[in-house]
Amino acid sequence: MKTIGMLCGMSWESSAVYYQLINREVQRRVGGVHSAKLLMHSFDFGEIGPVQRTGDWSQANRAMAEASAGLERSGADAVIMCCNTMHCATPEIERAIRVPFLHIADPLGQALRKAGLRRVALLGTSHTMARDDIIRGRLHDRYDITVLTPDDSDTARVSRVIYEELVRGQVLPQSRELYRDVIAKLAAQGAEGVILGCTELPLLVQPEDSAVPLFDTTTLHAMAAVDFALGTNS
Ligand code: GLU
Repeated sequence: MKTIGMLCGMSWESSAVYYQLINREVQRRVGGVHSAKLLMHSFDFGEIGPVQRTGDWSQANRAMAEASAGLERSGADAVIMCCNTMHCATPEIERAIRVPFLHIADPLGQALRKAGLRRVALLGTSHTMARDDIIRGRLHDRYDITVLTPDDSDTARVSRVIYEELVRGQVLPQSRELYRDVIAKLAAQGAEGVILGCTELPLLVQPEDSAVPLFDTTTLHAMAAVDFALGTNS
């Protein structure tokens, strides 16, 4: 079994989900009391969050690259970023390591393609929804998928729930209602599916909150890490 290096802590609430998903899946596939070989570099989100807000992305990208190199030096055979937003550091990370960086948009693009969807909505932080260099561009360029996003006021509300509630472990019914409304609007605009493009979102949104299929990047990414570690497909 190969060792997966994990960039974590953005936030730890979703890192804990990744840790559980990967270990349970390795145990399911390998059997016995086997579990995953993992190395975690867990950031303090109290340091990374403010950097995202002030827009000093180069500082955050450098921190991701340095941590990735540290994971490789410690024996990681591949690196994953347990967060959508900081995938903007992909070029820096790929320059810093020789082992593969397993990008979150790839298992997502493959799942969308398998489902035959071409036009899907994306929910996540304001950065992930707006920027092309996180997952939108890769979905378009490599998987020919068109991404819809909420209007400006819904974008602000969706992102606020992530930064003010979910990263603190607060899962509130009124926020679930907000997401249900936003998803319904996007489906009415022609979205054939909805990407949960923030790794905390599966804590809040479940398939019953949406009339169209949900694509949970946390689970898809965790399963891709297991595929890599075991050299297999589910
Ligand atoms: N975990 C989040 C994501 O998947 C958001 C936290 C962050 O901005 O780093 O984008």
